[in-house]
Amino acid sequence: MTTTTSAPANAASGTQGEPSLVPHYVDGALLTSATGRAGNVFNPALGAVVARVPLASVEETDAAVAAAKAALPAWRDTSLVKRAGVMFRFRELLDARRSELAAIITREHGKVTDDALGEVARGLEVVDFACGIPHLLKGEFSENVSTGIDAWSVRQSVGVVAGITPFNFPAMVPLWMVPIAIACGNTFVLKPSEKAPSSAVFLAELLQEAGLPKGVLNVLHGDAVAVNRLLEHPDVAAISSVGSTPVAQHIYETGTRHGKRVQALGGAKNHMVVLPDADVEWAADAAVGAAYGSAGQRCMAISAIVAVGDVADPLRAAIEQRLAKLRVGNGAEAGSEMGPVITADARDRIVGLIEEGARDGAALTVDGRALKVPGCDKGFFVGPTLFDNVTPEMSVYREEIFGPVLVILRVDSYDEALALVNGNQYANGTAIFTNDGAVARKFQNEVEVGMVGINVPIPVPMAFFSFGGWKQSLFGDTHVHGMEGVRFFTRMKAVTGRWPDPSRRHGVNLGFPTNG
Ligand code: NAD
Repeated sequence: MTTTTSAPANAASGTQGEPSLVPHYVDGALLTSATGRAGNVFNPALGAVVARVPLASVEETDAAVAAAKAALPAWRDTSLVKRAGVMFRFRELLDARRSELAAIITREHGKVTDDALGEVARGLEVVDFACGIPHLLKGEFSENVSTGIDAWSVRQSVGVVAGITPFNFPAMVPLWMVPIAIACGNTFVLKPSEKAPSSAVFLAELLQEAGLPKGVLNVLHGDAVAVNRLLEHPDVAAISSVGSTPVAQHIYETGTRHGKRVQALGGAKNHMVVLPDADVEWAADAAVGAAYGSAGQRCMAISAIVAVGDVADPLRAAIEQRLAKLRVGNGAEAGSEMGPVITADARDRIVGLIEEGARDGAALTVDGRALKVPGCDKGFFVGPTLFDNVTPEMSVYREEIFGPVLVILRVDSYDEALALVNGNQYANGTAIFTNDGAVARKFQNEVEVGMVGINVPIPVPMAFFSFGGWKQSLFGDTHVHGMEGVRFFTRMKAVTGRWPDPSRRHGVNLGFPTNG
């Protein structure tokens, strides 16, 4: 079995036998001693503590915000070309060290190496996008909006911004926010998930190596104490957060009540509608990849199949066939296709929901509860699980399970399928599988969901588009990365100007200016 070190690349280690402490990174320095509360970081495949994570106090949170505030004036005034230069160097460093970051992700999250490398690749694409910041921040200019008067608009940074990120993409989700925010001239306090904290420190160290001045990005570990302080801190101008729906709602409501600009992405229940004309083998491949990849711990995971008409039986059989061959194991070991879930609590919650589904009368056709992974006796594993004949009132359908559990709902028509998708409280992603272009077009037009795939099961937009759901999957107005990210992390200023011209003096005029 592969073993890896438990500390981020350059972080201080604990004394022999003790798990090391994942340091905060504040004002360009790694803070390696815990002054207060701390939590355990697990390797979920082994069920073993691999590090300790400090949980910031209010005072420590204030210190991180103060560092970001102090760095703001100089960074905001740094030329666009220099800011882009940092991004280009960061891009090269991250590209060169993908494997190291992927190993950290696998160690603390559990996802298999290929999946972790995919996460890094998708994050890197946002850095690529941020390298274009001089072009992206260009304002508009209109000459002669009135005689001798010009008007133009500029986008300026909003100030100190904070990011609050979930465990399931410990590198990609911070990379959705940080490159664009700092390229736009903001300074940043990142509060990563305390369950998988080391990737954020790794990224901060690479940015420092790329020339980012101290204080521009600060990584502060913690839990609700740190988050709640950031939400009310008078020096934090904007919050970008990703997490479960109750937390997203709390962050949105509290942050906006304190006058901040907030985007808060929440949970999901993503439906894959399969029409009778779909290619069943293709749909089954897609469903299995999208439902069980990362052990179902993706906000864009397919967790509900809506099988229309007589496609249900062959589709279920094709999925079962694939599940029988799926290799579950330690994500760090070659050949593993699916790893564990994040914690023992998560495993127990998922197992509890599987029990409820069976009790509610759904057909449990593949049961992953008893799975044992050789060499990983203490790991937090749940095997791939499949329910058929699920109905909308069952908790396995209503709840975001966030584990390797796929449910099949059977309906008779496209209209019924659409009503089911649109009736769900979550609206992050959805997909339709069909060979009928007209129905696919109708679906993408009628479905009330933020991201839609047509024969694409996980329609995560590329970095130059923007990512976000609707309804309970996103609180706020803007999606993340792409131009929506640039808009979120900047404020628009409109300027109207003229230069004195004696031939155009009209004397005092108390009327509201009119154009002419
Ligand atoms: P979570 O909501 O438990 O935690 C997210 C962040 O909020 C963490 O940094 C955590 O420390 C903090 N937090 C937790 N409880 C808090 C509280 N009471 N007050 C203030 N802050 C709190 O989410 P998670 O378990 O880390 O991640 C999984 C969830 O994230 C799933 O629901 C998943 O769908 C969602 N997610 C959504 C997207 C998306 O784009 N919509 C992307 C990834 C994950």
